[in-house]
Amino acid sequence: MPTLGTARGETPPPAQRPPHEDVPVEAPGQAQVAGEPCVLLKLGEIVLKGKNRDLFERRLQNNIRAAVKGLGIQVRVAQREGVIVVRAESRKLADVDAVARRIADVMGIVWVQRAWRVEKDVEHTVRAAIDLVGRHPALARKGTFAVRPRRRDKRFPMTSSEIAVRVGAAVQERFGLPVDLKNPDITVAIEVDRDEVFVFTEGLRGQGGLPVGMSGRGLVLMSGGIDSPVAAYRMMRRGLRVDYLHFSGMPFTGPESIYKAYALVRELDKFQGDSRLYVVPFGKAQQQIKSSGAERLQIIAQRRLMLKTGETLAARLGGAALITGDSLGQVSSQTLTNITALDDAVQLPILRPLIGMDKTEIMAEARRIRTLAISELPDEDCCTLLAPRRAETRAKIEDLRQMEKRLDAGELAEQLATSAQRHRPVYGEPAAS
Ligand code: ATP
Ligand code: MG
Repeated sequence: MPTLGTARGETPPPAQRPPHEDVPVEAPGQAQVAGEPCVLLKLGEIVLKGKNRDLFERRLQNNIRAAVKGLGIQVRVAQREGVIVVRAESRKLADVDAVARRIADVMGIVWVQRAWRVEKDVEHTVRAAIDLVGRHPALARKGTFAVRPRRRDKRFPMTSSEIAVRVGAAVQERFGLPVDLKNPDITVAIEVDRDEVFVFTEGLRGQGGLPVGMSGRGLVLMSGGIDSPVAAYRMMRRGLRVDYLHFSGMPFTGPESIYKAYALVRELDKFQGDSRLYVVPFGKAQQQIKSSGAERLQIIAQRRLMLKTGETLAARLGGAALITGDSLGQVSSQTLTNITALDDAVQLPILRPLIGMDKTEIMAEARRIRTLAISELPDEDCCTLLAPRRAETRAKIEDLRQMEKRLDAGELAEQLATSAQRHRPVYGEPAAS
């Protein structure tokens, strides 16, 4: 008899296969399982937050409910010790899978498991385990397996190793698979909870991080480019709720960059919900900067005016930070000297989550969060509109300040912030034609 995994340690990292792939929509074995499909959520850092934990959990639960709302599936969300259980009223497998996929975008969750929720006895547990192994893709190639039980309710009459032995023996008898505790192809996780037992194999990797809203509010300066959407994602993942501000070159460019910014925010909305995009026509202000003799400082002066406008708008929205997609040295406005000159333009902190990332890393993340294809669509970026042939890489703050005095940049920023048009892109809504 093999000794199977004990309750010690973490839930095993399941393979990164969506749960809907290993469980057919109409589960033929559902009657045999005598259980209910549900979604089990593993929280990461949230568990560590001591006395703030209640607040965290409540915030996360609200965010989960809000995310699922758009699916039109009624769910019940219950907090257990260290995990959250989401049940669909319909009990339909297809509904539960849709809920699992949607929740995988909610910040603050490390693993999303599509689990069987069965009665609290070993017979039901065995049946659920056999059902899951029976539909596992690794079964056909006679892969190895391991059972990893864990008891959150220590009063359960069997110890973890007893459960492992019992379930492992049943699986082995039924399918004749070898056990491999170190590197199994199939991991059957069993969690004995207060009222029930959860049994699952694969899961979806969640986003990790903290629930959106835990860290306050910020304003993302959102171009149509690759970097700023990734920067927004990174800050949402650290619990910041974000608003978005986009500057178009209008009236001297077409509206394409606005469509892109809209489409990007609509995609990113899956991570927080209720997103707002503010669009400012920036072309005339760019021309004013040029007329005030900016020359090689044109780009950096534009960026400072964007930041000032962002600061004004953030004050109106209750935002406590600005966020940009700057990455050190990537373009001329992102040299250390120029970044210092940008910081000088505003009082608010400027968060730059991509500052130390390579372009290839940023692009990989953009692909994963599905903003890359949108960012790569052609548009007319306002920044290139009046770009000088050679941009200054070592801008002097004093020169910039003097120029801004001539321009009355503070007043201009107020006007620009006031001219902002608000949009509310919603994840999953059809694209505007
Ligand atoms: P991105 O890919 O995000 O456009 P980038 O590498 O092209 O970045 P820049 O064009 O210098 O770099 O812009 C740096 C940052 O300034 C952007 O990440 C964004 O936060 C902000 N920014 C630039 N252009 C705009 C714009 N038109 N509207 C709003 N923010 C902008
Ligand atoms: Mg750009």
